[in-house]
Amino acid sequence: MKIDELIEQSSRALFSIELWPPRTVTSEKKLAEALELFSTVEIDFASITYGAGGSTRDNTHELVLKLDRQFNLNPVAHLVTASHSEDELRSILGRYRDNGIENLLALRGDPPIDGAGHFEVGEFTRALQLVELAKEEFSLCVGVAAHPEGHPDSMSLDDDRRHLAEKLKVADFAITQFFYRVDDYLKLIDDLEKLGVSKPVIPGVMAPTAFSTLQKMAQLSGTEIPRDIVDRLAPYEASPDDFKKAGTEVAVELCLALLDEGVPGVHIFTMNQASTTLEIFDSVKGNLNRR
Ligand code: FAD
Repeated sequence: MKIDELIEQSSRALFSIELWPPRTVTSEKKLAEALELFSTVEIDFASITYGAGGSTRDNTHELVLKLDRQFNLNPVAHLVTASHSEDELRSILGRYRDNGIENLLALRGDPPIDGAGHFEVGEFTRALQLVELAKEEFSLCVGVAAHPEGHPDSMSLDDDRRHLAEKLKVADFAITQFFYRVDDYLKLIDDLEKLGVSKPVIPGVMAPTAFSTLQKMAQLSGTEIPRDIVDRLAPYEASPDDFKKAGTEVAVELCLALLDEGVPGVHIFTMNQASTTLEIFDSVKGNLNRR
């Protein structure tokens, strides 16, 4: 089902996840176990990342079809403009449409964290061009990335907001980069409204599960880790289980605060870790039911 229709028809906020396509036999096994666990709970959609460096491209396609056919997990296929010609993008979009896939997340793409594969600017240089192609020629429901604290490459926050507003005027919804201050999300929505855009923006939430990962991801995405979160997690730096527990609590509190503000859903960046994500959903849903 198309995400914009799902949001419109649902009487509650959506619960969704991001998954990575596997690269190795070990990660494939881990993902298979995660999918079994995810299929035991109600998840409204699952988005599947796309390696801009090209190392996991076919894996994304396979996983999208697998989620749709075997797991009944409504898939959103990520696709990037980087390293692709327009014809290649057209062929990928056509393959999805012919297989009945209805949702796309259109992105520019970033070089992979570990430098794997080959990365270069594509024939399209902006996500907006892919949004237009996917909507006009393939009638897909198209989402885009939003950056509450501004994209690291943008000239200024105002500039970034104008570009996001331009993308969202054509696209159907957005999913944000991860962030830890609810006010950053609220300001983003406010700024978009001032620019005449009121399409749904789903907040992306990442539970801090290890300091090193958190710092690396924050640096890449331009997300600031607020002092109070650092202070809260720092005592557990040497104790992975306690750190994970405290990080999960941070994510649960963030989801609840966002849901209180009436967000259209919460999208968890799972990093293919089913147990942490299910704990978050369980705790959030339990809290909501007790109210
Ligand atoms: P764009 O919308 O093209 O914007 C990129 C930058 O250019 C911004 O700074 C913007 O302000 C600026 N800009 C846009 N238009 C103009 C213009 N006309 N003139 C001047 N400046 C302009 N990366 C992957 O490689 N694979 C993934 O699967 C993936 N999934 C993601 C999922 C989510 C939810 C998010 C938030 C990000 C994801 N990314 C992924 C990362 C994303 O590819 C990067 O953030 C990338 O650097 C920018 O992508 P974008 O789609 O926001 O680009």
